[in-house]
Amino acid sequence: MALEFACQRVGVTDCNHTATAESKDELLASVAEHAKDAHGVELNDTLIDYALTTVREV
Ligand SMILES: [Zn+2]
Repeated sequence: MALEFACQRVGVTDCNHTATAESKDELLASVAEHAKDAHGVELNDTLIDYALTTVREV
């Protein structure tokens, strides 16, 4: 079982990026890096909470 995050699920419809990881912390680290590099966005607690509501188990 892994956790998957997809930019499209948080409304970033022009980005096909997905991130998968074995743990929530690992996933958030990966998502934070992508958000900063690809979108120039620093994740804060609000964004993290929102992102986590869209994470799926795959
Ligand atoms: Zn993205």
